[in-house]
Amino acid sequence: MDGKWRCSRCGKLLGVLRGKRLHIRLSRSHEYLVGFPVTGVCRACQTLNEIGTPPPDSSCSPETVTTS
Ligand SMILES: [Zn+2]
Repeated sequence: MDGKWRCSRCGKLLGVLRGKRLHIRLSRSHEYLVGFPVTGVCRACQTLNEIGTPPPDSSCSPETVTTS
């Protein structure tokens, strides 16, 4: 995953990863920042897409605890 959430069937861009959340833009005045898991229907082909957990290469890993 390259930081973008794409439809598993047609490849349409559904959202963009922002750390541990997903940025979904439906139109200029309709934007959402949602937490995982994320489920959404593709606007182009109506395929149901889902992300259960953030990708491992996201900036913040929930399993990593840093002790300083
Ligand atoms: Zn699609």
